[in-house]
Amino acid sequence: MEGLKESFRSIESYLGSTVHDVLEWLYGERDRGSKPDEQQMLDRFASRWSEGWNDDITIIRIDENQETYLRTGREMLDRFHRETFTRDRSQTVSLEQRLSAPLSDGVVFTGIADRVGRTEQGRLFVVDYKTSRSKGNGSEFSEGLQAPLYAACVLKLHGERVALAGYHYLRHGTTQWRRIDDEQAERLWARVLELVGETESAGDFPARPGILCAWCGFNAHCPAAEVPDRFAGGLRYAQSTR
Ligand code: SF4
Repeated sequence: MEGLKESFRSIESYLGSTVHDVLEWLYGERDRGSKPDEQQMLDRFASRWSEGWNDDITIIRIDENQETYLRTGREMLDRFHRETFTRDRSQTVSLEQRLSAPLSDGVVFTGIADRVGRTEQGRLFVVDYKTSRSKGNGSEFSEGLQAPLYAACVLKLHGERVALAGYHYLRHGTTQWRRIDDEQAERLWARVLELVGETESAGDFPARPGILCAWCGFNAHCPAAEVPDRFAGGLRYAQSTR
C-alpha cells in the first residue's frame, strides 16, 4: 500500500478540527481585546464548517447525517463558552503551538499543543481539547501520554519545574488535570525512548483489525479490514471512487 493516500476523511475528524479552529479563534479574539459572545462564536463555526467542507468528508455511521454533527459541534461550543470560556481567567501563552524535544540521536518528539497558558496563580499549563464521545481511560494509548508529554516540552521551553497537563472533554464539559514535574518529565522521555526502541526492534507489524477499520482511510485496500455494515459510510465512498 506504499504511496496510497487515505480515500476519505471522517466527519468526526472534520468536526474535531473545525471545533479546534473556533476555540483557537475564541482565545485569539480575547487576546486581541474583544469578547466574542455565543452567537458570534456559533456564526464562526457555521462559516468555518461550510468553507472547509469537501466531498471527501464522509459520514461513517450510515444512520447519521451532517446535521447531527453540526448540532453536536454547536452544543459542545455552546457549553464551552458558557461553562468555561466566560469564567476562564487564565492567561494564554500560545495557541496551536508546535512543540519538540530531541530525545536521542535521530529521535525527536514533536506535537502541537492546543493551548499553553498560565493559571491566575502563575502555574504553566497545557490543555488539549477532545471532541471524542468518551473520555480517555488514562492508559498510555488512550491519550494518556499526549498532554503530559506536551507539558514536559513546555517545562523545557520555559525552564520551569512544574506544569499542569490537561484534557478538556468538550462533549462532557469536564477537564482532567495532571501535575507534571521535571522528574516525571524525565521518566516520560525515558518511556518514549523505550517505546521507540520496541518499535524499531519489532520484526513485523501484523494488521490488527477492529472497530476503527471503519474510520481507516485505507479500508478499501486492506485485506484484513473488518467494517460492520452500520459503519460502512467510508468504505462505500472509497469503493465508489476507486
Ligand atoms: S486492519 Fe483496519 S485499521 Fe489496520 S490498515 Fe487495515 S483497515 Fe486500516
